[in-house]
Amino acid sequence: MDLKDYIRDIPDFPEPGILFRDITPLLANPQAFDHAVAQLATRCSDAAFDAVVAVESRGFIFGAPLARELGKPLVPVRKPGKLPADTHSVEYDLEYGSNVLEIHSDGITPGQRVLIVDDLLAIGGTLSAASHLVEACGGEVVLLAVVIELLFLDGRSRLEGRELVSLIQY
Ligand code: 5GP
Repeated sequence: MDLKDYIRDIPDFPEPGILFRDITPLLANPQAFDHAVAQLATRCSDAAFDAVVAVESRGFIFGAPLARELGKPLVPVRKPGKLPADTHSVEYDLEYGSNVLEIHSDGITPGQRVLIVDDLLAIGGTLSAASHLVEACGGEVVLLAVVIELLFLDGRSRLEGRELVSLIQY
């Protein structure tokens, strides 16, 4: 199965000049969604990690079934003001605009090894910020995983040498 068949290109979203890679056709097809989660599980299975961190919002869609599949704790990284307990917070640049992300301070315990999941790597600000949040908790980021990697934006260069798995590249 070619997962690219289930990604739809939307020109000029959310701003003129941006070609948005829309994952909703993939989510709407149970076989394609299942294949994507199974592929992530296979590609991540060599790494030794204790927890899965998923980034709001589209990272939740893949991170939650992946954590279930692998039998690992799921820890959400959320937009500001959403998490009820004490948080660590980080501000970062997006492909378009800027954002803040938060994690529960006790979401990751010191020394825990972590896989971080999102739907897509663009310029890398989101996964870099999520990595810094895990590290602020004392965790170790052992692997990053995305469904889609936009190679031409060279997001890997923002990831400070952290290893990244991607299922689809453009
Ligand atoms: P980055 O921080 O790497 O520049 O951007 C990645 C984040 O922006 C991800 O959380 C992702 O959900 C979102 N994003 C940016 N561009 C796209 C896109 O074309 N398609 C999708 N599905 N998400 C995008």
